[in-house]
Amino acid sequence: MGGGRGAIVALLSISVVHPAADPIRSLLPLRRFRTATASVRMASHAAPCSSSTASSVIDFLTLCTRLKTTKRAGWVIRGVHDAESVADHMYRMSVMALISADLPGVDRDRCIKMAVVHDIAEAIVGDITPSDGVPKSEKSRREREALDHMCSLLGDGARAKEIHELWMEYEENTSLEAKLVKDFDKIEMILQALEYETDQGKDLEEFFQSTSGKFQTDLGKSWASEIVSRRRKK
Ligand code: ZN
Repeated sequence: MGGGRGAIVALLSISVVHPAADPIRSLLPLRRFRTATASVRMASHAAPCSSSTASSVIDFLTLCTRLKTTKRAGWVIRGVHDAESVADHMYRMSVMALISADLPGVDRDRCIKMAVVHDIAEAIVGDITPSDGVPKSEKSRREREALDHMCSLLGDGARAKEIHELWMEYEENTSLEAKLVKDFDKIEMILQALEYETDQGKDLEEFFQSTSGKFQTDLGKSWASEIVSRRRKK
C-alpha cells in the first residue's frame, strides 16, 4: 500500500511540475501548480538574505525609474532648460569608462559598473546639492540607508553585494577605479556645462572653477584640459 501511495505522490509531482505537458492533465492540476508556486514564493521569503523574488526585482527596477526622472539639481538651480537626469549623467560616464584606454592596475569593467551605480541612491534621496543645506555626513547617511534598502530588494545576495561594494568604493575613493570614475564624474559635468553654455547661452563658469585642479588621474586631467581648451575657443 505504501508503494502505491508513493506512486500516486510521484504522479502528482509530475503533474504539478509540468502542468502543461499533457493538454488534458494541464486543466486538472492548475490549482495544485499554483499551490506549488506559492510554496516556492514562500520559500524565497523565508530566505531573504540569499535570493530575490521577481516581485522585489521589479520593485528595485521601478525605483531605478526615478533616476530617469530626477533632473540633476545643479542645472535646475541655474535655470537650465530641459536639464539632464541622473541616469543621463551616469550613462555618459559609463560610456567614458567603456571607451577609455587600458590603464595599469585599473579594471575597466569595474569602472563601467561603478559609473552605472555610483549615484543609484539618488533614486530615493534625490540629488542633494550644497544649496540644500544638508550636512555632508547627513547626506552620506541618507544615501547609505537608501542603498541598503535597494540592496535588500535584491535579496542581499551576490548582485546586491557587488552594487554595495562598488558604491562604497566610489564613495570612499579607495581604489584606482574609484579615482578614475570620480574624474569621469567631473568630466561629464564640465562637458555638459559646456554644452549648456553653447546651446542655451548660459554662463556656467562656477562648474569649471569648482573642478579645476581636482582631477586625480592623468587621463582625467587630459580630457578635462581638452574640454577647457574647447571652451576658450568658443
Ligand atoms: Zn555622479
